[in-house]
Amino acid sequence: MMGKRAQQKRAAKHAKQAKQRKAAASRSAATFAAVAANLPQLRSMDDILFGPMATPWGDFTETHATVDDAIAAAEKAGGVLSCFSFDDSGEYERSLRQDADGWLYEVALYPRGSLRELVMTSWLDADDQDQAVERLRCALAAYVPDGLRHPGIEAVQRPSTTSVPRIGWAQSVPVAGLRTWEDVRLAEKEMALFALAPLADGTGRSYGPLPEETFALFRAHGLSARDCAGCGAPVTDRHPHWPGVLVSVENEFGPVCARSRLGEESLQRVGHVLHAAEARPAGKLTGKEQKVQCQYCDVHVTEQHPDWPGVWTEAGGYCRPTCAAPGFGADDATQYDLVDCVYPHAPAGAGEGPAAAAIAAAKKGGYFFQPRLPSFLEG
Ligand SMILES: [Zn+2]
Ligand SMILES: [Zn+2]
Repeated sequence: MMGKRAQQKRAAKHAKQAKQRKAAASRSAATFAAVAANLPQLRSMDDILFGPMATPWGDFTETHATVDDAIAAAEKAGGVLSCFSFDDSGEYERSLRQDADGWLYEVALYPRGSLRELVMTSWLDADDQDQAVERLRCALAAYVPDGLRHPGIEAVQRPSTTSVPRIGWAQSVPVAGLRTWEDVRLAEKEMALFALAPLADGTGRSYGPLPEETFALFRAHGLSARDCAGCGAPVTDRHPHWPGVLVSVENEFGPVCARSRLGEESLQRVGHVLHAAEARPAGKLTGKEQKVQCQYCDVHVTEQHPDWPGVWTEAGGYCRPTCAAPGFGADDATQYDLVDCVYPHAPAGAGEGPAAAAIAAAKKGGYFFQPRLPSFLEG
């Protein structure tokens, strides 16, 4: 059963996703209506808050009434049956798998929050992404402090639903003696893996910046692990939406830095910086820049903003370089495996520009939530 906190958290996550979907279309009521019509779960506030409450793990244990039933299904599926489901404490994949000694019940725990961002930006940054996967596995093994190490826990890579690797920690127990899902729940209480859940968030506090030691540990394993000097977020300049621009792979900010480390609060958008000396106050437009309209959100944009050279940025207002957040709606596993990031503006009539090319390339890559607008609204 899902606890009340987990339910509230799931409701909050769905509400946040709905908010992001709405933000994606907020500039046009007509566009929002069209998007909402394509997202049946958005029809009412009740649907947003209370609709999708069933967890994949709850469904799994209903579909397979006993452990033996699940093993029979795993046998048919070729020796592995797994279920990805997040809850209050973490992102988990529970599976039944067969090895030389018989059937095992395995729980894998995956990084989330800022630690997951560090894994993804390090992977996107790598020249050799296969090698990066191995290095990430080693870094995550070393990330576990001595007091929480256990001979049964190993850092593993498990199949992903996208091209983004799924890497975490796993522990398994023999299924012998486990009959009911209650037996399984009690067996989980004895598994040392669950003590790692707070660490999987990166800090123990959700969404706080990662400590510098974690970046240093990843670098010691041959990973780029770059952090922004302005806000502490893990950043990459190889995100396919934003080639050459430092971005965090966080939904709402992307290329925009909060400068929270430097005690500056600016309403004007500024970019991430690798060194504090590069952090200057937001530049200003002269008003004489060439402007065109964004084909997605209709605001006037220029690529001559001093802080965002070559990036189509809103000409006026807060000078937003971001057009919209990507959409949501996938299952827990797919959602985990996607690299989320905001999209850049793309000027109307410039189908071949860098921003339009980045969006086209990201769509082909298949590892982003997309598109943010129904295809009939894209031009
Ligand atoms: Zn930053
Ligand atoms: Zn736009």
